[in-house]
Amino acid sequence: MQQFPCPFCGPRPEDEFRYAGDAGRPRPGRDASDAEWAAYLYFGRNARGAARELWIHSYGCGRWIELSRDTVSHVVDGAKPMNP
Ligand SMILES: [Zn+2]
Repeated sequence: MQQFPCPFCGPRPEDEFRYAGDAGRPRPGRDASDAEWAAYLYFGRNARGAARELWIHSYGCGRWIELSRDTVSHVVDGAKPMNP
């Protein structure tokens, strides 16, 4: 099983984490239409290669992290606490 480096707990099994989306992707504004929200929620970029992703260590410390990972090779380049 793949290990993710939690900045608070150290290396932990992937199944302790839950994926929460692309990091740095702007959210629609308060006046966004239903179609804009649907596009944001259901149609992510899903690009091949280097990616920054948001994960929560749901079966560990419960903190949010930003993970740098290659979506093809699954190599994790690093992790840092998510900005509040
Ligand atoms: Zn943790």
